Amino acid sequence: MNFNADYRLLIDGALVGAARTFEVLNPATEAPIGQAPDAAREDLDRAIDAARRAFPAWAATPIAERKARLNALGDAILAHLDPLKRLLTREQGKPHAEAEGEVGGAGFWLKAAAGLDLPVTVNEDSEVRYSETRRVPLGVVGAIAPWNFPLLLAMFKVGPGLLAGNTMVLKPSPFTPLTTLKFGEMARDLLPPGVLNIVSGGDDLGPWMTSHPGFDKISFTGSTATGRRVMESAAPTLKRLTLELGGNDAAIVMPDVDVAAVAEELFWAAFRNNGQICIATKRMYVHKDIYEPLRDALVAYARTVKVGDGAEQGTQIGPINNKPQYERVLDLIRDAKDKGYTFLMGGEASSAPGYFVPITILDNPPETSRIVQEEQFGPVLPLLKFDDYEEVIARANATDYGLGGSVWGEDEDKALEIAERIASGTVWINETQHVSPTAAFGGHKQSGVGAEGGIEGLMEYTAAQTITRRKRAVAA
Ligand code: NAD
Repeated sequence: MNFNADYRLLIDGALVGAARTFEVLNPATEAPIGQAPDAAREDLDRAIDAARRAFPAWAATPIAERKARLNALGDAILAHLDPLKRLLTREQGKPHAEAEGEVGGAGFWLKAAAGLDLPVTVNEDSEVRYSETRRVPLGVVGAIAPWNFPLLLAMFKVGPGLLAGNTMVLKPSPFTPLTTLKFGEMARDLLPPGVLNIVSGGDDLGPWMTSHPGFDKISFTGSTATGRRVMESAAPTLKRLTLELGGNDAAIVMPDVDVAAVAEELFWAAFRNNGQICIATKRMYVHKDIYEPLRDALVAYARTVKVGDGAEQGTQIGPINNKPQYERVLDLIRDAKDKGYTFLMGGEASSAPGYFVPITILDNPPETSRIVQEEQFGPVLPLLKFDDYEEVIARANATDYGLGGSVWGEDEDKALEIAERIASGTVWINETQHVSPTAAFGGHKQSGVGAEGGIEGLMEYTAAQTITRRKRAVAA
């Protein structure tokens, strides 16, 4: 395959253009980097039709062969790590090292998903009856991915969805379609026609998918606000749903941490990928006994971090991915300024090209402030002071979100006791953001419905089928 600037849809095993295209920008420069096909409704119809025709044969394909094909697809990603990484940085903004981590993770994820097996449960094996429940694929899945980890989060769906025997139509975000479209060129060569189709397009394409009667399931990753619209639109045809939505993760830092040792890690918990991670630390609760030293250590470390174009050597944090998100983050900063909260650093956006927001840290703003209550999804972190564990657990849980969270401290028993009371899908102790293809990952409350990862994630792409057989000898 080649990495020219020709981007095509993947429909029915063929790379095809669309009647119209849309421009994709480099967020570090705001310069156009490519034209992506703008799929029309007819293109989507053709993709769904191809997926539907491919479904019976793919579902009947022995699982060993489906695994082999996913492994080959994972290998193809890894074999093209360098050009994929460069393209990802250009469209997403993240530094090359981070982009390499994402592309490598995407290949690894497909291969790891290929190692999973669907369970069969024997319900009864008595003199009169044998009954077992197995898992069967659902049909055609519509997969919708966001722009923060475009390739990796798409593979969270492609791996288990295809392994379970479904066929799929995948839609990347209009801000980051290019890497996924290049991945489509690999899929064309390694999968039977129609098993995986990839369509890029504008703001209408997602709603066309979620309301389309041709899908049996929608697997969506994106914001909670959009997740609500997806659920509403999927209701008339009762599509199965997996919704991986937003978060407002709290980190709780206990007084016995080694401040010097954890400051850097805590910084990256909040600022990796420029804060554009669903499970980034978005509120950092620090015990009052160590608040000042940890605050000072975080700010001192933050001042050493290089923000810039992700393609430049040494850049550690890139730009915000897109203009609407850039405006949202600036609006939150403006609100904090208007209210007179204390900024330890940052807060001034530059007028140079690119969606750059400086690393911004706030000193103990009120719990009710927008910067604490809303998901910022950018490089802006409120540090918050706490006194007592009951109080901080209540504050951490006082949100409609419930995606992740973390607890930091030397007393591991105490940390575990706190972790067990955080109302979210994942809680880390003395680390954060570790997500594994063999572990369930999903949101509680309004952070999502269902899970990805592990057997639980795989089962989301299946329905239970119970087959019960009365034994002949008894029937006679
Ligand atoms: P978004 O909701 O704006 O868009 C996500 C995807 O949905 C895009 O492909 C978009 O084109 C599409 N879309 C937009 N409107 C749609 C509609 N009405 N119907 C169907 N599809 C529609 O989210 P985003 O800004 O791309 O991503 C950031 C958000 O995603 C944050 O809230 C973040 O926390 C969340 N996120 C969650 C996870 C997770 O696993 N829980 C992972 C990454 C990001």
